[in-house]
Amino acid sequence: MRFCIVGAGFSGAVMARHLAEQGHKILLIDERTHPGGNCHTGRDEKTGVMIHHYGPHIFHTADQRVWDYVRSFGTFRPYVNRVKAISKGHVYTLPVNLLTINQFFGTTMGPAEARAFIESKADRSLTEPANFEEQAMSMIGPELYRAFFYGYTRKQWGLEPAELPASILKRLPLRFNYDDNYFSHPYQGMPENGYTSVVENILATDGIELRLGTSFENIDEEFDHVFYTGPIDRYFDFRLGRLGYRTLDFERFDGEGDYQGTAVINYCDEEIPYTRISEHKHFAPWEEAKMKGTVCFREYSRLAQPQDIPYYPIRLVHEKRMLESYIDLARTTPGVSFMGRLGTYRYLDMDVTIAEALSACDRIDELLAEGQKI
Ligand code: FAD
Ligand code: UDP
Repeated sequence: MRFCIVGAGFSGAVMARHLAEQGHKILLIDERTHPGGNCHTGRDEKTGVMIHHYGPHIFHTADQRVWDYVRSFGTFRPYVNRVKAISKGHVYTLPVNLLTINQFFGTTMGPAEARAFIESKADRSLTEPANFEEQAMSMIGPELYRAFFYGYTRKQWGLEPAELPASILKRLPLRFNYDDNYFSHPYQGMPENGYTSVVENILATDGIELRLGTSFENIDEEFDHVFYTGPIDRYFDFRLGRLGYRTLDFERFDGEGDYQGTAVINYCDEEIPYTRISEHKHFAPWEEAKMKGTVCFREYSRLAQPQDIPYYPIRLVHEKRMLESYIDLARTTPGVSFMGRLGTYRYLDMDVTIAEALSACDRIDELLAEGQKI
């Protein structure tokens, strides 16, 4: 059979590899000039630093299948994301942990004492927090919320936290020990040669034709089925409206030596227009000493316009309703399946993207084995 896969990010690459290994012919297209999707990395010509072109990406997962899968296409070096946050002229560690709490309140509490202290600040009446702000008030209380989350979230989402879902904050842990690992997953790492090399290795098999710089809109060929990892509303020509996204502007600046001493510093105060600064050589600690200079990015968030890269799905109530209508439309449109971050309009981490693509491969095998249509 001959398939078209739209998008050469992790979703499209995993599907392309699997179908090619089953003996099918694949045309994999991407309108960008490189594979890797938003995880794309590349060496900076001037400094040699491995740049994460669409923002910092740290691999983390609890899924053994996904961890084994990615490591079969590249070496992953140990990497733990330890984020610093600046609030009102002081530097803290995130996610909120015992050091953050003791520094912020000027205390020397132990775990049990700190837990009781934060519980005394938290609003216990909010048993089922309905939004981001209520989630914060029920979890950490007003002081930590104002210092670390209120301003940053307004910058990141352009909305009052009370208008956002509680699930956004639930991504972050709260710890009553000194563990400042940003993620709680057992497997974490960074690909030694960058993410694009991992994706290229996934695609290095017979049966896949990779056509870059090519939009699906310009393809005029027949296929047995299309797997579409682009924006679902774009596939349907926005006929039910545009799903809202936040986009990011990255302002690059270069320097000598070490600019900030760590990979990521969040700027939590609203008066500072950017959300964070990332210094990319620190994402590769095994090679940073060899770099001639340093490359940093200030990151600004704003509402995406039609010509902008859609980074974060906003998913407010009316968007979820619009998404439901697009999903209904997709279900009644034969010959195409929607996958990945843009195809399903969800904020998916890389590991979830890969896990979902692997499950989709399993499902397709079952359907084809039963002689059914995809
Ligand atoms: P994408 O990577 O978006 O790939 C889709 C591809 O489809 C794109 O290359 C696009 O050009 C192409 N395309 C779309 N429409 C068309 C069309 N019509 N014709 C041709 N081509 C088309 N995840 C983590 O696990 N850890 C992190 O630290 C992390 N950090 C992130 C930081 C930022 C700033 C962002 C935005 C995301 C982050 N993620 C992180 C999430 C990660 O980027 C996604 O999980 C991953 O990129 C999803 O892969 P995908 O293949 O579904 O989509
Ligand atoms: N957040 C915040 N302050 C911070 C870090 C995160 O207010 O210093 C909020 C913000 O709303 C963000 C959410 O917590 O969107 C989830 O944080 P995460 O680091 O998971 O964001 P992402 O990786 O999606 O950029």
